[in-house]
Amino acid sequence: MPLWFTLAVTKAAATLSRLLGRGGGHALPGVIAERLDPRLAGRLAASLPHGVIMVTGTNGKTTTTKLIASILEANGERVLTNSTGSNLKRGITSALISAASLRGRLEATVGLFEVDEASLRRVTGELKPDHIVVLNLFRDQLDRYGELDTTAALIGEGIAATTARLYLNADDPLVASLHRYASSPDLVHYFGVDELPPDAPDVPPTASDSDRCPVCRSRLEFSRTFYGHIGHYACPTCDVVRPTPDVAVTAVDSADATGSRFTVAVDGRPTEVVFPLAGTYNMYNALAAMSLAHGCGVAPAVAAETLAGTVAAFGRVEELTLDGRRLFLLLVKNPVGLTQVLETFVSREAAPHLLFAVSDLDADGRDVSWLWDVPMEALIPSDAVVLTTGIRGADMTLRLHYAGVASEEVEDVPSAVERLVREIPVGGTGYILPTYTAMLAIRKLLAQRTSMQEVWR
Ligand SMILES: [Zn+2]
Repeated sequence: MPLWFTLAVTKAAATLSRLLGRGGGHALPGVIAERLDPRLAGRLAASLPHGVIMVTGTNGKTTTTKLIASILEANGERVLTNSTGSNLKRGITSALISAASLRGRLEATVGLFEVDEASLRRVTGELKPDHIVVLNLFRDQLDRYGELDTTAALIGEGIAATTARLYLNADDPLVASLHRYASSPDLVHYFGVDELPPDAPDVPPTASDSDRCPVCRSRLEFSRTFYGHIGHYACPTCDVVRPTPDVAVTAVDSADATGSRFTVAVDGRPTEVVFPLAGTYNMYNALAAMSLAHGCGVAPAVAAETLAGTVAAFGRVEELTLDGRRLFLLLVKNPVGLTQVLETFVSREAAPHLLFAVSDLDADGRDVSWLWDVPMEALIPSDAVVLTTGIRGADMTLRLHYAGVASEEVEDVPSAVERLVREIPVGGTGYILPTYTAMLAIRKLLAQRTSMQEVWR
């Protein structure tokens, strides 16, 4: 089938889908292309002069992809990327189709795609990425992915189908173990954190996911843990040990709710980074982006300067002012993410005001048992003022009760937001922690109450 024909049909479908208002029409062209010409995405991607980059892992894909796109653009690339949430094969195919002319030409110089962990092996064979970044592997929506080892093996299969350069998190044992699938050891790069400040809160290991040796299954020995199972480890039985990263955080000068300042050594040469996204997890996202940038030949100074100008990806950390109160909207979707958010924003505050909005629709993950994996006891001050809402608000209230934290459920989401705002003293700060669909609802609600363009950042 001629390329122009497939492109004309799929582009028409995208337009029609948008006109009918069907959920943005992100995936439809990809679905049709799979029927008409299953190799379309590969044919289009092959024309990108600087190749294809893929970003995968449980947490931070969207943020890291955004960081990498900004860095590459600052370095003169024209970046083609998939939109948030369309990180399955058909979403990537759709992104390529909508960017292509009818003759199949792309303006972009490089393709940058965030890819769902389970989908990676379905796209690497065809799109032949030149670079693959693997951020971390945490328990997330277990009903969909199964065990972490299975997820790692799926990513491994995806890697093995390529000759890509790999950028692996040295501090995540399962991610670092993916070096086995590289087509050559020379293609493996590691990023990691050597030092955090001594006063960083000690996150209890209850949120840990993967503390077994990926090779011999012995329990790994950790000399440091930064969050979850991310840290410095060695296997007492075999020769598995944290690899030495070639891009590493060597010192953290400051870290608070407004971001952090740290030193990154790239092949031993230090660069100062001022990064306006809070949390250790975001430091790792920045580090992953710097690692990839280095592998693509971007000077560390260019990467650092771009990171300093970063704003939060949609829905991850948003801040606004409402009726004289400062509100943070912090998306939570799994135990490690929630642990990090509580650690960063809540754990050191006196009498913080919180609203948990927990739902269990498909996009949230149907299983909310992960709430029990978060060490709420250690992270929520006992004098916190806590409200819960959402479809599973009652489950959250029960979980908090067992953590010794009193909370009140307000069933109706708009009423819960109003109530939170009223509870916060004027000039004070509150935190809204929603799962995905609850976040969309609350964001819409807040947008009606306030001028989004001016106050959202
Ligand atoms: Zn071992």
